[in-house]
Amino acid sequence: MPMSDCIFCKIARRDIPSEIAYEDDEILAFKDIQPLAPVHLVIIPKIHLRNLNDVTSEHEQLLGHLFGVIPRLAKEFGVAETGYRVVTNNGTDGGQVVGHLHVHLLGGQALNAAIG
Ligand code: AMP
Ligand code: ZN
Repeated sequence: MPMSDCIFCKIARRDIPSEIAYEDDEILAFKDIQPLAPVHLVIIPKIHLRNLNDVTSEHEQLLGHLFGVIPRLAKEFGVAETGYRVVTNNGTDGGQVVGHLHVHLLGGQALNAAIG
């Protein structure tokens, strides 16, 4: 799929609206349109990577930065102390629907203990 058709690239370009929670030069966080928990954010790198399979050593700083923002968002959205889950779905069996690398931040209620 060309990047021009990617829904998360479109969100990053502001071609389609989203409720943005955080933005800097490298990453964007926005509210999931179909939240699975009271707090459900999606955090993306602005560059188009399909999923973790596209990650190379050149992305280490970017992903370190992305993960460094997550606890700040958790605090801002009031779930840092109550707890939260961070999920990245990869590929078909991983349940990935949108083919642009993203991390879900879920919290605000006790989440199902099952991982799979
Ligand atoms: P995944 O199954 O990991 O690919 O998750 C994709 C997520 O993107 C789902 O939770 C969707 O609800 C969410 N999503 C899809 N389109 C939008 C959108 N336009 N704005 C916000 N979240 C979206
Ligand atoms: Zn994309």
